Amino acid sequence: MDPRLPYIIPYLASALGILTVAFIVLQHRRIRGKRFLVFLCLSAALWSLTEGLLYFGFSREVNLAISKVQYIGIAALPPLALMMAFVVFGLTSSTTRKIGYVLFVMAGLIIIEVWLNNLHNLHYSSTYVIDTGSFPMLGLVHGPLWYAVVAYHYLITLATTIIIIRGLRSPVPMYRGQSLVLLVSILVVWIANGVYVAGLSPVPNMDTGPIAFTVVAASFAWGFFRFNLFDIVPAAKEEIFLSLQDPVIILDENGRIVELNRAAAELFDVADGSLIGERLNGAIPFFPSLDAAIAQDTSTEIDMKTDQGDMYFAVRISNLKDRKERRIGKLVVMHDVTVRKHLENKLKQMAATDALTGVSNRRHLFEMAEREYYRARRYGYDLCAVMIDIDRFKDLNDRYGHDVGDEALRQFAKTCKDEVRGGDIFGRIGGEEFVTIYTNQNLAQALRAAERLREQIAAIAITVPDGKTNITASLGVAALTEDDSSFDDLLKRADEALYEAKKAGRNCVRA
Ligand code: GH3
Ligand code: MG
Ligand code: MG
Repeated sequence: MDPRLPYIIPYLASALGILTVAFIVLQHRRIRGKRFLVFLCLSAALWSLTEGLLYFGFSREVNLAISKVQYIGIAALPPLALMMAFVVFGLTSSTTRKIGYVLFVMAGLIIIEVWLNNLHNLHYSSTYVIDTGSFPMLGLVHGPLWYAVVAYHYLITLATTIIIIRGLRSPVPMYRGQSLVLLVSILVVWIANGVYVAGLSPVPNMDTGPIAFTVVAASFAWGFFRFNLFDIVPAAKEEIFLSLQDPVIILDENGRIVELNRAAAELFDVADGSLIGERLNGAIPFFPSLDAAIAQDTSTEIDMKTDQGDMYFAVRISNLKDRKERRIGKLVVMHDVTVRKHLENKLKQMAATDALTGVSNRRHLFEMAEREYYRARRYGYDLCAVMIDIDRFKDLNDRYGHDVGDEALRQFAKTCKDEVRGGDIFGRIGGEEFVTIYTNQNLAQALRAAERLREQIAAIAITVPDGKTNITASLGVAALTEDDSSFDDLLKRADEALYEAKKAGRNCVRA
């Protein structure tokens, strides 16, 4: 057997194996960290393949060139393994992304430094020929930069190892399983390296590093296929989060936006992700009630003025805690209740108004009147009630029909409503019977107001088939007395006064 084969076969086999894995990974459409995984496999394959080539017995120049190409794989592997560990254990963030940039720039610099070695000789101080007995091998004497780079790579691999060990503590059994497999594979790297450094390779002088890293790449890939970790769960979680119809915001404990979904970006009219890192109140100043709700930690209903009109949200705020129950941030879910709220408002308004005239209906008027009655009682305010009944309304209906009667009621209601002051109350309590409540007015003032009202009513001109006609009303006024024990008592006396007004010939005011 060719003495080179025990060296070449393991390297080429491991390169081929990991390339196959890369190919399979590429077939999968959705994997988080797919690029890292593929590059991890490619880098391990490059390192193994070039290591195998070094044993073919090429010339010194060719072997030196192969060594330089090999360094692309060597420099890329440790950072790629670290980035994969970030992805697998859900640690990706803007910070890890920044770490990634730095590490890959460093890797680029290391590769350049190796390629320019003949200018400085700091990585390899000299080369020599290893006499393996049967074929020549390129021997490289390590310079100071070589040691620096190796130490740096150890450091990165140590970080990867720590992240994997932390994964062992995960409450999710699946993550623990994944972590255990990765831990074993990264231990292979450490052991292989130790064996090589200690000169204990099973095959003399053989660098077991590339094969060990192939095992790491393979176990990352295996974790993906076995647990579907990179695939379904994080992808689904992210998709659920992003595609939620309800705007969702994640804040850190300092109130800075960590993440927001598409619905939130749309609501705040910003590009996806553009608010990340900003404070909520700084980023969305036109939304103060949301800020207040978050500051107070209370789930509540808030409103917001938008181009499309008022919007209402039921805001639910949950505190996010880490495994040690420490607060790490807040989850804000905004459920759009605008439609419900508009309906509610409409219903409330409908329940309170009279359909024909649009003024307060009997129920609402009594509600408001009773409130005023208690206030007046409590603080000793004056309060007067005026009962209004249109005169001979039946005749108007009989002569011109119900529609003209309805129109007269509408005009009448509008006239009265315009005449009554803001704080006062006016409503329809029956067919053509209306009530006005004057707050903070004594009987004399109320009588004057009622008289003005009577004049306004008498001035109403109603269009009828043969021209215009007028209506008049009789008004009965009563002021609250010590003896009244309810609003009804007051209204009853106003009704009695109205009866007097009718008896007195109508179109007049009586108290
Ligand atoms: P009086 O001066 O004594 O009050 O005479 P009146 O004809 O107004 O008598 P009364 O108050 O008893 O009659 C009320 C009439 O109002 C009876 C009814 O036909 C009419 N009416 C009640 N509700 C409506 C309504 O919604 N639309 C119309 N067009 N007429 C109504
Ligand atoms: Mg009547
Ligand atoms: Mg009447």
